[in-house]
Parts: sequence; structure tokens; C-alpha cells
Amino acid sequence: MYCKYCGKELGPHARQCPNCGEEVTYTSGSGLIVAGYVCAGLSLIIFPLPLGIAGAIIGAINIGKGRTTHGIVQIVLSVVLGMAGALLGLLAWGLLF
Ligand SMILES: [Zn+2]
Repeated sequence: MYCKYCGKELGPHARQCPNCGEEVTYTSGSGLIVAGYVCAGLSLIIFPLPLGIAGAIIGAINIGKGRTTHGIVQIVLSVVLGMAGALLGLLAWGLLF
């Protein structure tokens, strides 16, 4: 990981660049990346609608923050897995009742 302001190499858990003093923002950002994938993945198993929507929203936020690839993948995953989860839920519901 390198400082995006001055390019100096940073420790894996650095919150501030030791060279230029700028705040390192990737920690919270990578949390959002993980959250997007977790929401998208879980939407296949539980709560397809809210988790699918949450995954798509987090994906849109990631696109807004410049992580375009992650964001697009998360939105596509959320929509596809959310719909698959909803279908599976309907199937399970139909088999049970
Ligand atoms: Zn720096």
C-alpha cells in the first residue's frame, strides 16, 4: 500500500502517512468493498431483497469513490444473486406449503 498523495510506502495498518501526514482512507474504503460483497453474497441465502438492495447501494457508493470495478461487480452480483435468492425462497416456500 502506498500513500496516494506522496507515493511513500505505508505499513499495512497505517492510518496516517508518516511522510506527508495525510490521512490514509483505504481502511474504511476496503470495509465498504467487503460489505458490498458480503451483502451481495448473503442475498442469495437470506433476505434477498434488502441485502440485494444494500449490496447495490454499497456498489454505487464504491463507484462514487472511484472503485468502479468493485462497484459494478457488486451491483451485478447483488441483482443476480438477489433475484436467484428470491427465486430460491419462492421455490422453498412452494415446496413447504
Ligand atoms: Zn504521503
